[in-house]
Amino acid sequence: MAPTTTPAKPKAPAPANAYEEVNALFDRAADRLNMADETRQILKKPFREVTVSVPVRMDNGKINVYTGFRVQHNGARGPWKGGIRYHPEVDLNEVRALASLMTWKTALVDVPFGGAKGGVGCDPTTMSSLEMERLTRKFTARIAVVLGPSRDIPAPDMGTDGRVMAWLMDEYSSRRGYSPGVVTGKPVTLGGSRGRITATAYGVLSVIDAYYAGRGESVKGKTASVQGFGNVGSYTAKFWHERGGKVVAVTDVKGGVQNPKGLDVPALWAFFEKNRTVAGFPGGEPIDNAGLFALKVDCLIPAALGDVITAKNAGAIKAPLVVEAANHPTTPDADEMLEERGIVVIPDILANAGGVTVSYFEWSQNLTQFYWDEDKVNHELDIKMRRAFAEVEKIQKKEKCSMRTAAFMQAVQRVADAETQRGN
Ligand code: NAD
Repeated sequence: MAPTTTPAKPKAPAPANAYEEVNALFDRAADRLNMADETRQILKKPFREVTVSVPVRMDNGKINVYTGFRVQHNGARGPWKGGIRYHPEVDLNEVRALASLMTWKTALVDVPFGGAKGGVGCDPTTMSSLEMERLTRKFTARIAVVLGPSRDIPAPDMGTDGRVMAWLMDEYSSRRGYSPGVVTGKPVTLGGSRGRITATAYGVLSVIDAYYAGRGESVKGKTASVQGFGNVGSYTAKFWHERGGKVVAVTDVKGGVQNPKGLDVPALWAFFEKNRTVAGFPGGEPIDNAGLFALKVDCLIPAALGDVITAKNAGAIKAPLVVEAANHPTTPDADEMLEERGIVVIPDILANAGGVTVSYFEWSQNLTQFYWDEDKVNHELDIKMRRAFAEVEKIQKKEKCSMRTAAFMQAVQRVADAETQRGN
């Protein structure tokens, strides 16, 4: 008898931009949830998009006019929450995509926020500190009407840091009175939370611990390669090493280093402190990103940029586990390839949610003016991350789907329930 073949399902047209990519992930979850079309329309579209022009007097006396955005995606579960990015390539569709991801991330770890994102198209690497301050104050003044501790709470993102958050808080407070809760990621002296700097990497390791614990295993003795040695990558490498695992390769924007026996991570940190790069570290051999992605390791951790695992390099990945510490590191076609090859991907909205979770702790400490010590922050963070992981794994096993689809199902259902209960 001739073998029967299942006709191939017609493929949906490839998403044209990051926003469509996130909506494609949303649709995959909404299909499994049998969600009505009208609910999908409510949940997909941003609630509000603000575009402002931001004139800034530069140090040379001339005025540059920048464009800034704040997109508030969904606020059914609480005030909008999300970072502000300063980068030359900030574009509205990307800001929409990141705002939407924040809606799903905050719902997934069950913190009482919605999702937002903002950005200004500028190059902070060429600006003086005073120019950055003037830019931040003008941008804040122009979007202040949609911000507030119970309305929309920004945080740092690419190109912004605690210093920028301090200016934002100061500018907002000068209009509305002392408002530390208008922004998170502040310096600890201004009401920032202890443990915020390590929070994302701490959360990455919480979900990895939970994943291995469910299989009777642990990080001890396991190998990892990490792309990126910034806030997330450097602490992820540190925590992996402290658990008795081996970090066998690390790259950053200037190059990379590998050592199959395991890098001496404390020495790598000391080298980085001096040289601001891991490239040239004497405790290993050079490696580039392509080499890092193709290494035979137990766990591959992208912790740098978006769209780095693509259809071009997904076939070369040999790690059985990919943990997305970066936002959106895997393109949709690469994601399908990894799934077909049985490679487990712990998705960004779960893996890197430790940052927003401690931002929630910071905001609630600001509202109560009662401050926690670092052990309490880490303990509460670990509980939230492990709970979210267990919920996702339960859905994944029941639905026999990827962890990404399971994570979206959990998050989308929570936001849909909140919208319905509000009568929308
Ligand atoms: P960062 O700016 O501190 O570090 C970025 C790192 O990526 C640097 O080491 C840089 O050299 C490296 N990098 C840049 N281009 C590279 C390239 N071509 N190849 C290899 N490395 C390269 O940023 P971060 O805060 O560590 O964020 C990293 C990722 O994690 C981003 O995707 C970010 O959106 C995501 N994230 C961060 C947080 C947080 O709390 N910081 C929270 C959630 C998600």
